Amino acid sequence: MISFEEFSENCARVRERVAEACAACGRAPESVKILPVTKNHPVAAPIYAARVGFSAVGENRVQEAELKKKEFSEKNVFGSPFPRWELIGHLQSNKARRAVEIFDRVQSVDSISLAQKLDRLCGEISREHLPILLQANAGSDPAKFGTADYDSLRALAEAAFAGTHLQVDGLMCVAPIDDDSLETARRSFDILRAWRDRLESEFGKKLPELSMGMSHDLAPAVAAGSTMVRIGTALFGARNYTL
Ligand SMILES: *Cc1c(COP(=O)(O)O)cnc(C)c1O
Repeated sequence: MISFEEFSENCARVRERVAEACAACGRAPESVKILPVTKNHPVAAPIYAARVGFSAVGENRVQEAELKKKEFSEKNVFGSPFPRWELIGHLQSNKARRAVEIFDRVQSVDSISLAQKLDRLCGEISREHLPILLQANAGSDPAKFGTADYDSLRALAEAAFAGTHLQVDGLMCVAPIDDDSLETARRSFDILRAWRDRLESEFGKKLPELSMGMSHDLAPAVAAGSTMVRIGTALFGARNYTL
């Protein structure tokens, strides 16, 4: 794990990159939130993040996040405020109950059955609202989760809107990895934004959150209208997969 000083420098650099990307397309830098992604890093990662003022962190596994939340409370010697925890990784059906118990928002709702299950579980554990994002596979990448075309996203949105407890904040996607250029990423982000606009007009609902862009492709994401970039490596360095 890197030192807090190094993390602080990384933060400044990421904020600068976001500001530059915003300036290049005439957006206000405050219109893009940074979500520090703390997966595969020790509890120091969310502690660092909270210490410099981030109010939320992203994790992609239920058990890992649960453990880290507990450790955060125990090891938070600087008294940093407790952040909100967002699930950004694929959620297996058998972990859905735990996810509803521990996450403040689930960004990775990628099927009708998962949406319905989350809604039902909220009722069972008396959780009034669960904010969610719908995950779309806007880049049609066979290796990625999420609805692969507009019609299946529309059906997922319809099911989510029908939930009593689900609060649909917007959409999320992960762009396909393309070593050649950021063009593929840019195309996926443009598609996600267009799908969002179409859903808003067809359902007459606001879907303000567009969670798209990671360490390497934050600039095209911002250009396409991202409101939240999810940043792991550029803030915390390489992940440790043995954790
Ligand atoms: C790991 C992860 C990120 C962060 O990726 P970096 O390239 O390290 O910035 C963002 N989004 C999702 C869904 C992830 O799983």
